Amino acid sequence: MISIKLNFGGFVPLSTVDWRGRSACTVFLRGCPVRCTYCQNSSILSGKDERDCEEIIEMIRGSLFAISGVIFSGGEPTAQKEALLFLARATKTMSLAVGVHTNGVYPGTLEALIKERLIDHVALDIKARWARYNNLLKGDYVKDVQKSLALCKEAHENGHLPEFEVVITLFRGYDDEVPIIAQEAGGVDIVLQQGVTEDVRPFSEAEMEKIADGLLRSVKIRTREGGEIVYEGDRSRRAASKR
Ligand code: SF4
Repeated sequence: MISIKLNFGGFVPLSTVDWRGRSACTVFLRGCPVRCTYCQNSSILSGKDERDCEEIIEMIRGSLFAISGVIFSGGEPTAQKEALLFLARATKTMSLAVGVHTNGVYPGTLEALIKERLIDHVALDIKARWARYNNLLKGDYVKDVQKSLALCKEAHENGHLPEFEVVITLFRGYDDEVPIIAQEAGGVDIVLQQGVTEDVRPFSEAEMEKIADGLLRSVKIRTREGGEIVYEGDRSRRAASKR
């Protein structure tokens, strides 16, 4: 049998918060070309811990009694295309759903996963409005993220990707960008995620609801304190906007 190697970042045997409506285990793939200052997994952005994919498959098997899906996260899981495809195929043969958390800079990996119908859920981070993207990420990433967005939207509309959401992480001082990002993303499910850094006080859930009101649509709001909620918006403001 061909042995595929993976640069391994970690494993959580059971999570009930990473995939709404499912119990899942989470496999972290080490390495990411981007360097967000707020990264919560900065210890696995670089370095090497090479494992055989069979070892990871055994870890997933160990969680089988409690899970219905596997989340591949990171680091950036789509950076390791062959290993991720191998693990997604193995996950499917265990009759488990496959979810990927991605920054979207490797659209070729998403395309391959979608083409083989190996993927059930994508959470795509969009970090800024397009005009500010490359500057913020200090690299030429915007075209690839736009391609990933287009691929996932099309696959979701065609029924080839059952769940697709765009995740916007909110930081104080940048909240006026949220409506622009949501508009540029188009008609997709939006998750507003509380950004947490050492330097700046994070938004409270109530503050995030106010920001969500500006979008005039239902969104998910994710905070450390409250977990994930579906926020339907300020109905009176919605009604007023229709008049
Ligand atoms: S893209 Fe994600 S994994 Fe990479 S540095 Fe940013 S937050 Fe961390």
